[in-house]
Amino acid sequence: MAYKDPNDPRKTDVKRLLTDYKYANTERGFVALAISRRFLPSVVASRGGHVVHESIDKKEFWRLYMNHIIIMKEKFPESDGRLCRYCEKPFTFVTKLGTRGTGYHGRGTQNYANFSIDRWDPKITYQTNNIIFCCGGCNDRKKNSTPKDWENFTRVGKERIKL
Ligand SMILES: [Zn+2]
Repeated sequence: MAYKDPNDPRKTDVKRLLTDYKYANTERGFVALAISRRFLPSVVASRGGHVVHESIDKKEFWRLYMNHIIIMKEKFPESDGRLCRYCEKPFTFVTKLGTRGTGYHGRGTQNYANFSIDRWDPKITYQTNNIIFCCGGCNDRKKNSTPKDWENFTRVGKERIKL
């Protein structure tokens, strides 16, 4: 039998992995990981250097998330407020083993209903009036498009109808 010795470090590793995994699949764990990633220098570098604004700490992210829940609950009293700000559909908090809490193994297999943190204007970093909690799908579709882009899309949509 493998890992008979309770002090076998491999056993501890597996236990820790499973404990971390369970935590990563709770709302608290999932959100905490999403927030923490914004503060990891390696992740910041890989995301094009979107450093969190100096006025923001992890507590402020949590405060904004609590506000988000209140806003969405007021809008949808039947819900628990865990809704995407954009499409207003429920969030999921589902990770896959071995993805360090990101919930996806690269493009194509992401859980698009998962909670994610968006910068409303992607030209601006994470700061209080620019942080929006939305689903992975909305975040992915929005990507680096800017408020000016959305104006353009809407304008053309209207012009198109008049033709
Ligand atoms: Zn959405």
